[in-house]
Amino acid sequence: MHQPSTVIQFRWDNSYAERMPGFYVSCAPSVVPNPVLLRFNSRLAEELGLNAGEIDLSLAAQIFSGNELPAGAQPLAQAYAGHQFGGFVSQLGDGRALLLGELVDGHGRRRDIALKGSGPTPFSRGGDGKAAVGPVLREYLIGEAMHALGIPTTRALAAVGTGEQVMRERSLPGAILTRVAASHIRVGTFEYFAARRQDDHVRALADFVIERHDPNLMGEANRYLLLLKAVAERQAALLAQWMLVGFIHGVMNTDNMTVSGETIDYGPCAFMESYSPHAVFSSIDTGGRYAYGNQPMIARWNLSRFAETLLSLINDTAPDRALTEATDVINGFMSRYQALWLSGARAKLGFAIAPADDEEDSLLAQDWLDLLEQHAVDFTLGWRRLADAAEGNPELLEALFPSVDALRPWLERWRRRLAQQPTSATAATAEAMRAVNPIYIPRNHRVEEALASATHNGDLVLFERLLDVIAHPYDERPGLEDYAQPAPREFTACYKTFCGT
Ligand code: AMP
Ligand code: MG
Repeated sequence: MHQPSTVIQFRWDNSYAERMPGFYVSCAPSVVPNPVLLRFNSRLAEELGLNAGEIDLSLAAQIFSGNELPAGAQPLAQAYAGHQFGGFVSQLGDGRALLLGELVDGHGRRRDIALKGSGPTPFSRGGDGKAAVGPVLREYLIGEAMHALGIPTTRALAAVGTGEQVMRERSLPGAILTRVAASHIRVGTFEYFAARRQDDHVRALADFVIERHDPNLMGEANRYLLLLKAVAERQAALLAQWMLVGFIHGVMNTDNMTVSGETIDYGPCAFMESYSPHAVFSSIDTGGRYAYGNQPMIARWNLSRFAETLLSLINDTAPDRALTEATDVINGFMSRYQALWLSGARAKLGFAIAPADDEEDSLLAQDWLDLLEQHAVDFTLGWRRLADAAEGNPELLEALFPSVDALRPWLERWRRRLAQQPTSATAATAEAMRAVNPIYIPRNHRVEEALASATHNGDLVLFERLLDVIAHPYDERPGLEDYAQPAPREFTACYKTFCGT
């Protein structure tokens, strides 16, 4: 018989704590009364080399609540600023999160391990620094869904109930999330030091980021311009992926945009149901600034704020030159995004090969989206059922439209384009399409029912089931038909998401 391992081993290698004094405040997590492990991500733990094969549940609860600090952890709250809904806030920082440390995982990748909801820090600005169980499980679930979809994201290692209540609009059970990230450095981290005219700090931060995320740029004479390009490239790729699965982040403030290119901070996010560029669910986004269709432009706007922090590094002696070079990068963002989006859309449409001229595919994709919008077709199912149509079974697709006639002209164009492919093996085409068009996304009503059950009944069954469904988003499985279905229209019509702090 195996003994549960009594030590979860973190092989810490804390570069931020060691090398970046002045960029954070050391701070211990608050002690919580009665921590209980709600979920532990064993596969991720394995990837991180934690030696947590058969963990002792109560010990894990102590560690992932912050009650017991693993040896070598150096908990700290990172400083950052940020543009929130377009307005600059010069000090935000980790007000409810702490970086415990970093380690190098089994693939040689450096990962941050952080607690979220672990109590007040010097950056809390009057907030309690805590989190409720609903938002913690939400971040767990959506992050894991994004990962399973193949989209860069922070991950969830553990969720722990704290045994205390937190006061929001009402009293709610508290929880703490353990978040794993390539790093927690944001556009807002750069803005914090740039706003204070601490040029040496901005340079140190840029050098740190280059070493961590873009080591190939080390030693390049124009490395700061290249860093801007690299971050822009990662964001263009990320945004293309979000848009292709209908993900709406909901609060794309510059403090919620990483330089690593990972999606971070799952607060008021949601997946789109019926297609609309105007889709917005966040209760605080009354102007629709962060609506689905605005996201690429907002990423570009955020990158402009990032570029501004780097100008003096890009060229100290010729500011005009620096401005021109940085502006060129920003101006190139949308076309780069569009190229990446089109290449993803092409795969979703079942076209293996790009023609010499993009124009036709671009039009076909746009007309498809227009059709989905016009008939309020479910975005996820629309794409997925196209795969069946590729195999000669258009019925399920047609059923999503008010009439066959609404779809027919477009479908004929699409079939003609499909027929131009070198291979006519329809089964192979359909299979390739199913590998990029998910059948299961975390449907908003499913997420809410799982979180409500966990919050009000302490029952994690629905959460576990949903986690299992979204872990394999591309494999249609019998018995899970309900999970592929959109929410009732009445639900979506009044669905609102909250920042959930
Ligand atoms: P977010 O909405 O997660 O992007 O957070 C924006 C800012 O508000 C960050 O500086 C957070 O640390 C801070 N914040 C959010 N919730 C809390 C809370 N409950 N207590 C203290 N600070 C918070
Ligand atoms: Mg944030």
